[in-house]
Amino acid sequence: MSPREQLCAYGRRAVELGLVIGTSGNLSVREGDLVAVTPSGVALDRLAPEMCPVVDMDGHLVEGDLQPSSETPMHLAVYASTTAQAVVHTHSVFGTVVATTMTELPPIHYNTLLLGGTVRVAPYATYGTPELAANVRAALDGRQAALLANHGGVTIGATLEQAFEATRLLEWLCEVYVRALGVGRPAVLTPEQLDAVVERAVNPPHFPRRPADPHGL
Ligand SMILES: [Zn+2]
Repeated sequence: MSPREQLCAYGRRAVELGLVIGTSGNLSVREGDLVAVTPSGVALDRLAPEMCPVVDMDGHLVEGDLQPSSETPMHLAVYASTTAQAVVHTHSVFGTVVATTMTELPPIHYNTLLLGGTVRVAPYATYGTPELAANVRAALDGRQAALLANHGGVTIGATLEQAFEATRLLEWLCEVYVRALGVGRPAVLTPEQLDAVVERAVNPPHFPRRPADPHGL
Protein backbone atom coordinates (compact mmCIF):
# COMPACT_ATOMS: atom_id res chain seq x y z
CA MET A 1 0.00 0.00 0.00
CA SER A 2 1.21 3.51 -0.77
CA PRO A 3 1.47 5.93 2.18
CA ARG A 4 -1.75 7.66 1.07
CA GLU A 5 -3.59 4.31 0.81
CA GLN A 6 -2.37 3.43 4.30
CA LEU A 7 -3.80 6.70 5.64
CA CYS A 8 -7.22 5.75 4.21
CA ALA A 9 -7.11 2.19 5.60
CA TYR A 10 -6.01 3.16 9.11
CA GLY A 11 -8.25 6.23 9.12
CA ARG A 12 -11.26 3.95 8.55
CA ARG A 13 -10.04 1.59 11.25
CA ALA A 14 -9.57 4.45 13.74
CA VAL A 15 -13.22 5.46 13.24
CA GLU A 16 -14.47 1.84 13.37
CA LEU A 17 -12.68 1.28 16.69
CA GLY A 18 -14.07 4.50 18.15
CA LEU A 19 -10.62 6.07 18.54
CA VAL A 20 -11.74 9.21 16.70
CA ILE A 21 -15.04 10.90 15.88
CA GLY A 22 -15.79 13.33 13.07
CA THR A 23 -12.75 15.19 11.81
CA SER A 24 -10.75 14.87 15.03
CA GLY A 25 -7.50 12.95 14.91
CA ASN A 26 -4.88 12.78 12.20
CA LEU A 27 -2.33 10.34 10.82
CA SER A 28 0.84 10.69 8.78
CA VAL A 29 3.45 8.53 7.09
CA ARG A 30 6.97 9.64 6.23
CA GLU A 31 8.69 8.51 3.05
CA GLY A 32 12.15 10.00 2.56
CA ASP A 33 11.88 13.77 2.97
CA LEU A 34 8.15 13.82 2.27
CA VAL A 35 5.21 13.25 4.59
CA ALA A 36 1.72 12.11 3.54
CA VAL A 37 -0.82 13.41 6.06
CA THR A 38 -4.58 13.34 6.48
CA PRO A 39 -6.32 16.51 5.25
CA SER A 40 -7.99 19.17 7.37
CA GLY A 41 -11.77 19.03 7.67
CA VAL A 42 -12.42 15.51 6.31
CA ALA A 43 -13.62 12.64 8.53
CA LEU A 44 -11.01 9.89 8.66
CA ASP A 45 -13.45 7.27 7.31
CA ARG A 46 -14.24 9.37 4.22
CA LEU A 47 -10.74 9.63 2.80
CA ALA A 48 -9.57 8.73 -0.70
CA PRO A 49 -5.82 8.50 -1.42
CA GLU A 50 -5.74 11.59 -3.66
CA MET A 51 -7.39 13.66 -0.90
CA CYS A 52 -4.35 13.21 1.36
CA PRO A 53 -1.82 16.05 1.00
CA VAL A 54 1.92 15.44 0.78
CA VAL A 55 4.20 18.02 2.43
CA ASP A 56 7.95 18.44 2.69
CA MET A 57 9.75 18.65 6.02
CA ASP A 58 9.31 22.45 6.06
CA GLY A 59 5.54 22.11 5.73
CA HIS A 60 5.31 23.18 2.08
CA LEU A 61 2.48 21.52 0.17
CA VAL A 62 4.00 19.27 -2.52
CA GLU A 63 0.95 17.26 -3.69
CA GLY A 64 -2.81 17.40 -3.21
CA ASP A 65 -5.53 20.07 -3.37
CA LEU A 66 -6.71 19.94 0.25
CA GLN A 67 -4.95 21.61 3.15
CA PRO A 68 -3.01 19.29 5.49
CA SER A 69 -4.31 18.69 9.01
CA SER A 70 -3.83 21.69 11.30
CA GLU A 71 -1.76 19.38 13.54
CA THR A 72 0.83 18.88 10.78
CA PRO A 73 3.44 21.06 12.61
CA MET A 74 3.34 18.55 15.49
CA HIS A 75 3.86 15.62 13.08
CA LEU A 76 6.80 17.39 11.38
CA ALA A 77 8.38 18.25 14.76
CA VAL A 78 8.19 14.58 15.73
CA TYR A 79 9.83 13.48 12.45
CA ALA A 80 12.56 16.11 12.88
CA SER A 81 13.50 14.81 16.34
CA THR A 82 12.92 11.03 16.14
CA THR A 83 13.44 8.12 13.75
CA ALA A 84 9.65 7.62 13.51
CA GLN A 85 8.20 6.87 10.09
CA ALA A 86 4.55 7.27 11.13
CA VAL A 87 2.55 9.33 13.63
CA VAL A 88 -0.99 8.75 14.94
CA HIS A 89 -2.87 11.43 16.90
CA THR A 90 -6.35 10.92 18.33
CA HIS A 91 -8.73 12.40 20.91
CA SER A 92 -9.63 8.91 22.18
CA VAL A 93 -11.87 8.90 25.27
CA PHE A 94 -9.76 7.26 27.97
CA GLY A 95 -6.52 8.82 26.76
CA THR A 96 -8.15 12.23 26.97
CA VAL A 97 -9.55 11.47 30.44
CA VAL A 98 -6.04 10.72 31.72
CA ALA A 99 -4.59 13.70 29.83
CA THR A 100 -7.15 15.95 31.52
CA THR A 101 -6.53 14.77 35.07
CA MET A 102 -2.95 13.50 35.38
CA THR A 103 0.62 14.58 34.67
CA GLU A 104 1.60 11.03 33.62
CA LEU A 105 0.15 7.56 33.11
CA PRO A 106 1.94 5.43 35.72
CA PRO A 107 3.11 1.89 34.84
CA ILE A 108 0.18 -0.07 36.25
CA HIS A 109 0.67 -2.89 33.71
CA TYR A 110 3.91 -4.27 32.31
CA ASN A 111 2.74 -3.63 28.74
CA THR A 112 3.53 0.03 29.47
CA LEU A 113 7.09 -1.02 28.61
CA LEU A 114 6.00 -1.54 24.98
CA LEU A 115 5.51 2.25 24.85
CA GLY A 116 8.91 2.90 26.45
CA GLY A 117 7.69 3.23 30.04
CA THR A 118 5.66 5.79 32.01
CA VAL A 119 3.68 7.87 29.49
CA ARG A 120 4.21 11.61 30.01
CA VAL A 121 1.48 14.22 29.60
CA ALA A 122 2.76 17.15 27.52
CA PRO A 123 1.73 20.53 29.00
CA TYR A 124 -1.26 22.17 27.35
CA ALA A 125 -0.78 24.52 24.38
CA THR A 126 -3.16 25.58 21.61
CA TYR A 127 -3.51 22.96 18.87
CA GLY A 128 -1.44 23.46 15.74
CA THR A 129 1.09 25.78 17.45
CA PRO A 130 4.89 25.38 17.55
CA GLU A 131 4.57 25.46 21.36
CA LEU A 132 2.42 22.31 21.37
CA ALA A 133 4.79 20.66 18.89
CA ALA A 134 7.75 21.40 21.20
CA ASN A 135 5.90 20.10 24.27
CA VAL A 136 4.99 16.86 22.47
CA ARG A 137 8.53 16.39 21.20
CA ALA A 138 9.86 16.64 24.78
CA ALA A 139 7.19 14.28 26.16
CA LEU A 140 8.07 11.67 23.51
CA ASP A 141 11.76 11.56 24.47
CA GLY A 142 12.58 7.82 24.67
CA ARG A 143 8.90 6.89 24.30
CA GLN A 144 6.54 5.66 21.57
CA ALA A 145 3.59 7.51 23.13
CA ALA A 146 2.67 10.74 24.86
CA LEU A 147 -0.54 12.30 26.09
CA LEU A 148 -1.41 15.95 25.40
CA ALA A 149 -2.97 17.78 28.35
CA ASN A 150 -6.71 18.46 27.86
CA HIS A 151 -6.41 17.23 24.27
CA GLY A 152 -5.61 13.56 23.44
CA GLY A 153 -2.72 11.28 22.65
CA VAL A 154 0.03 10.75 20.09
CA THR A 155 2.03 7.65 19.17
CA ILE A 156 4.88 6.95 16.79
CA GLY A 157 6.27 3.90 15.02
CA ALA A 158 8.55 2.55 12.33
CA THR A 159 5.38 1.90 10.30
CA LEU A 160 1.82 3.21 10.42
CA GLU A 161 0.72 -0.23 11.64
CA GLN A 162 3.12 0.04 14.61
CA ALA A 163 2.06 3.60 15.44
CA PHE A 164 -1.60 2.58 15.19
CA GLU A 165 -1.14 -0.45 17.46
CA ALA A 166 0.65 1.82 19.94
CA THR A 167 -2.41 4.07 19.94
CA ARG A 168 -4.65 1.07 20.66
CA LEU A 169 -2.35 -0.03 23.50
CA LEU A 170 -2.19 3.51 24.93
CA GLU A 171 -5.99 3.70 24.93
CA TRP A 172 -6.25 0.24 26.57
CA LEU A 173 -3.76 1.20 29.31
CA CYS A 174 -5.63 4.46 29.96
CA GLU A 175 -8.96 2.60 30.10
CA VAL A 176 -7.59 0.03 32.56
CA TYR A 177 -6.19 2.82 34.72
CA VAL A 178 -9.40 4.85 34.72
CA ARG A 179 -11.57 1.79 35.44
CA ALA A 180 -9.17 0.64 38.18
CA LEU A 181 -9.48 4.05 39.84
CA GLY A 182 -13.21 3.45 40.07
CA VAL A 183 -12.64 0.22 42.03
CA GLY A 184 -9.75 1.22 44.28
CA ARG A 185 -6.25 2.59 44.30
CA PRO A 186 -4.31 1.06 41.37
CA ALA A 187 -0.97 -0.43 42.39
CA VAL A 188 1.96 0.91 40.38
CA LEU A 189 4.73 -1.47 39.30
CA THR A 190 8.11 -0.75 40.90
CA PRO A 191 11.29 -0.16 38.86
CA GLU A 192 12.51 -3.58 40.08
CA GLN A 193 9.34 -5.29 38.84
CA LEU A 194 9.69 -3.56 35.48
CA ASP A 195 13.37 -4.52 35.23
CA ALA A 196 12.37 -8.14 35.87
CA VAL A 197 9.90 -7.95 32.96
CA VAL A 198 12.65 -6.71 30.64
CA GLU A 199 14.90 -9.54 31.87
CA ARG A 200 12.12 -12.08 31.21
CA ALA A 201 11.55 -10.71 27.71
CA VAL A 202 15.26 -10.96 26.89
CA ASN A 203 15.41 -14.53 28.23
CA PRO A 204 12.08 -16.16 27.33
CA PRO A 205 11.34 -19.64 28.72
CA HIS A 206 12.47 -22.45 26.44
CA PHE A 207 10.34 -25.56 26.05
CA PRO A 208 12.47 -28.50 24.80
CA ARG A 209 10.87 -31.00 22.44
CA ARG A 210 9.89 -34.30 24.09
CA PRO A 211 12.45 -37.04 23.26
CA ALA A 212 11.26 -39.55 20.64
CA ASP A 213 9.84 -42.78 22.13
CA PRO A 214 12.49 -45.53 21.49
CA HIS A 215 9.73 -48.15 21.10
CA GLY A 216 7.94 -46.29 18.34
CA LEU A 217 4.44 -45.12 19.03
ZN1 LIG B 1 -5.85 17.08 18.24
